[in-house]
Amino acid sequence: MLTNYHSHSTFCDGKSTMEEMVISAVECGFTHWGVSSHAPFPISNDFALKEEDIPAYKREFLRLKDKYADKIKLYIGLEMDFVPDICEDIRHKAVDYGLDYFIGSVHQVKEHNNSLKTWFIDGGKSEKYDLGLKEVFDNDIKSGVTCFFNQQKEMIEHNRPDVLGHFDKVVMHNKDRYFLQSEKWYEDLVLSLIDTVAKCGTVVEINTRGLYKQRHNDYYPSTFWIKYLIEHNIPLTVSTDCHKADEAGAYYKEALRHLKELNCKELYYFEQGWHAEDINAFVTK
Ligand SMILES: [Zn+2]
Ligand SMILES: [Zn+2]
Repeated sequence: MLTNYHSHSTFCDGKSTMEEMVISAVECGFTHWGVSSHAPFPISNDFALKEEDIPAYKREFLRLKDKYADKIKLYIGLEMDFVPDICEDIRHKAVDYGLDYFIGSVHQVKEHNNSLKTWFIDGGKSEKYDLGLKEVFDNDIKSGVTCFFNQQKEMIEHNRPDVLGHFDKVVMHNKDRYFLQSEKWYEDLVLSLIDTVAKCGTVVEINTRGLYKQRHNDYYPSTFWIKYLIEHNIPLTVSTDCHKADEAGAYYKEALRHLKELNCKELYYFEQGWHAEDINAFVTK
């Protein structure tokens, strides 16, 4: 078997259609595939699915699910942003949309306040990261990063996403400039998040995107934390977070090898709920 529940398409900021993605997934040998466009976001943007396109998103998913039924199991999800005061009630939304599952991810960081300004920690440009840190957190990296982790904890506690997306993506543009991952305050934040994950039974994704995009030199989360997650029996799933058809299985084989070297024994897959399976059952073409 081979699974990936984190994939984008032209319904959001992806560059390939949902069908091109599914065809590529079948070619890569995926047996279970989830579509997870960026969920509609209440502030004007160019990355998310539009609320009015939800019916078309579901229609296209159902068409493909039927058309490729003998080749691959398809699931419908969304990658949903949780942002204090802007979009907090994401589980209700996921239920309203009739999704199979949803990924909770934090890309935009802010404290609870009246401001709509957020610190955008993702995307291709470090300048934007630097500018946001200055504008929203007055260049106080500790406050910004603390807020990023607390926001994920709040999201998990209040919304119980099926999967937690790229939980340390805040390090991508940091590149050891503002802080080191070995600093105690940073480690404490991650440990506290993992506590919440363990308490809530959230599946954590091992996301390969930073590596194949060459924006980062490790998985999300970093190897140090993958080891910790394995030692503490946290449910894991591998995601490519692909935005183009040729990224469908990018770095998956390497991720499996890496996880086995770290003594990972099982991965979780979705099929009417989440289940554990021996990692050796996962095979790439
Ligand atoms: Zn994301
Ligand atoms: Zn994504």
